[in-house]
Amino acid sequence: MRISARLLLILLLAGAAPALAQDPGTLEDKTLPPIEHVTPSTPAKELFGRKTKPDAAVPRSIGFYSHGCLAGAVALPINGPTWQVMRLSRNRNWGHPLLVQLLERLADKAKKLGWNGLLVGDMSQPRGGPMLTGHASHQIGLDADIWLTPMPDRKLSREEREFTSATMVVREDRLDVDPSVWTHAHTEVIRSAAEDPAVERIFVNAAIKKALCRDAGSDRAWLGKVRPWWGHDYHFHVRIFCPPDSPQCEPQPIPETGEGCGHELDYWFSDGVLHPGVPAEPPKPRPGPTMASLPAACRQVLMAR
Ligand SMILES: [Zn+2]
Repeated sequence: MRISARLLLILLLAGAAPALAQDPGTLEDKTLPPIEHVTPSTPAKELFGRKTKPDAAVPRSIGFYSHGCLAGAVALPINGPTWQVMRLSRNRNWGHPLLVQLLERLADKAKKLGWNGLLVGDMSQPRGGPMLTGHASHQIGLDADIWLTPMPDRKLSREEREFTSATMVVREDRLDVDPSVWTHAHTEVIRSAAEDPAVERIFVNAAIKKALCRDAGSDRAWLGKVRPWWGHDYHFHVRIFCPPDSPQCEPQPIPETGEGCGHELDYWFSDGVLHPGVPAEPPKPRPGPTMASLPAACRQVLMAR
């Protein structure tokens, strides 16, 4: 198993639940009440989670994917010729301009591969940072979730975008994909994302990785970028490299090599991972990092008008 120890640690410290693309949204006004007394121990997610607009700064990703924030975010338009944004109530269709450009490029390519268009899930909050729900990463505007469901041939309503479920592609025994759902177009759309030079890493469920290894054919170089991770049964997660305009962006620590197929997947199909058992008591929610533990520049991002 070659999970970055640092990433795992940050994930555990952040205490975030995995991103669940199928979690429904809401049509109600979700404006959170202001925090009356901000103290040094106020979790940063309570502060970033209340920001509804980006700052006006030059775009810049600050910190690590699961420990940072985003200046000068831009929004992916909620409707494009070959994509639609889902779960609008979350207000998470923000990113570094390079991420927005990547998604537009992938959506266009997907259409040419016979995938009707992309349904885009969470990107980042308007100023990035830790989130009140879901995701340890997605904090610096360089991560995006793409549903494993092609875009329908019509504009989805607000209700549909909140309540439609993404498609579960993993078989019930979790050892492979569900053959009644999985298509070659799934492989092609993930391959086209992995082959984009801006993309650093793609996270999928291990059963999906297994299917990609089987379907890839002789052209296999792209498989190395696609790595198993918990969750990701309903969507795949695309992560791009630190942008050249962001000197405070921390790259992914250890580049992994090889295809990551075959025995390298054994860990993910081991009994302890497939059947982790039920903890004696429910895990306590963790507060996550405070402003003092995030990169210092995130304070300006948070405070800017
Ligand atoms: Zn994600």
